[in-house]
Amino acid sequence: MDFEVVIGLEVHAQLLTRTKIFCSCATTFGNEPNANTCPVCTGLPGALPVLNRQVVEYAIKAGLATNCRIAEKSVFARKNYFYPDLPKGYQISQYDLPICEAGFLDIMVDGEQKRIGITRIHMEEDAGKLVHPDDYSGVSYVDYNRACVPLLEIVSEPDMRSSDEAVAYLKGMRDILMYLEICDGNMEEGSFRCDANVSIRPFGQEEFGIRAELKNMNSFRNVQRAIEYEIGRQRDILEQGGQVVQETRLWDADKSISVSMRGKEEAHDYRYFPDPDLLPVQVDQLWIAAVRETLPELPQDKRARFMAEYEIPPHDAEVLTGSRLLADYFEATVAKVGNAKMVSNWMLSELLRYLNDDKRTIESCPVSPDGLASLLKLIEAGTISGKIAKKVFSTMYAGKNNDAAGIVKAQGLVQIDDSEALGEIIKQVLAAHPEEVEKLQQGKAKIFGFLVGQVMRQTRGKANPGLVNDLLGQELAAKTAKNQPPSVSGS
Ligand SMILES: [Zn+2]
Repeated sequence: MDFEVVIGLEVHAQLLTRTKIFCSCATTFGNEPNANTCPVCTGLPGALPVLNRQVVEYAIKAGLATNCRIAEKSVFARKNYFYPDLPKGYQISQYDLPICEAGFLDIMVDGEQKRIGITRIHMEEDAGKLVHPDDYSGVSYVDYNRACVPLLEIVSEPDMRSSDEAVAYLKGMRDILMYLEICDGNMEEGSFRCDANVSIRPFGQEEFGIRAELKNMNSFRNVQRAIEYEIGRQRDILEQGGQVVQETRLWDADKSISVSMRGKEEAHDYRYFPDPDLLPVQVDQLWIAAVRETLPELPQDKRARFMAEYEIPPHDAEVLTGSRLLADYFEATVAKVGNAKMVSNWMLSELLRYLNDDKRTIESCPVSPDGLASLLKLIEAGTISGKIAKKVFSTMYAGKNNDAAGIVKAQGLVQIDDSEALGEIIKQVLAAHPEEVEKLQQGKAKIFGFLVGQVMRQTRGKANPGLVNDLLGQELAAKTAKNQPPSVSGS
């Protein structure tokens, strides 16, 4: 039987505000446990929350960037449950009146665009963290530094039909939040995390199948693997005539399996009600318009502009707009060199490879846009070959040295463009390889490349490759003509 996969995603994004959502404690990561706490975020009796205006502004930004309707009035609600990392016994969240609703995000999978609905975006506080010592000694500690750190919960419609679509949606959403500079997008540290609701149904059936909720996936790869595993698990059950049960499952990346965490009967009844300590959030049109003014060019728009303006292929545009800073780097370099495709090729091959190997981001790239531009100009001017340029780039990168011309001069790497000098070297190479020349003349065309390689070797890569090709061709043609037996005419 053939099944259709149905996936909906819930994203939790930690906001990059300086202070927490309902108190003035710092949101700084990595401080001493409980250093960033006060009576409000530790839930002491009588302490009252005061809403951080920046959180509302960030939520509006996220809503506008994902085509949502911004509610003029939204309400904070208490989500009641007991857990040691939640000192008040409830989480302040939003329930029936969230701040953003009815948006969408367009994704591209296999060259096809698809629109994924966004049901809602709401504001809420994060919980604290339980710390279990390694030498499990019967105690657990609790750290409230994270308690009350602002989160956006972004809930999609169940519009995705494969794990590829789910990952494309998550990447798109993460790009947007990072472009807006409201979330750092770090999945490993949990500042961008997601839960996936997965179900399958026979093709043609309108009713949704029973879904499982997947948690604990801290990378795009794990999201993909966990969803694929879940699809297989549910298919096996249905094919054997069984029934999928509604439950929450935890992904175990090491074992590549998911395990049941709790079933439907253990699901919480959160008994939501409006938080009496907080006024409804009022957002007027003026405020929305003012926030709209601050929106940067978003990833999809930038991608489209890069393809149109710089005439680079979709893949290049996709990679280069992967972060705002990378896109800025590209544009700054193109402004100096002009040849956009050449800049793109260099960034996609050399630059990103070095950065990846080094686990660096573009922010800390030792070669500046000016430095890369000056190197590429040397290639364009014919001063060095592309091959030599790669060596120079390596020197620039390793030494944080942006003086490409200086390196070329100091290392004597200027390209040999002198036909006479190259002609001499070519003659020597041909004289040293009589057998190869003969094979070439018998039609083994591959030998030509070998001979070019020998010339490049003699010149330590400095010969102008185009010129070597031309000169070698001429020399061989002359040789062949000489060796032809004199033609007999009029026999
Ligand atoms: Zn606090």
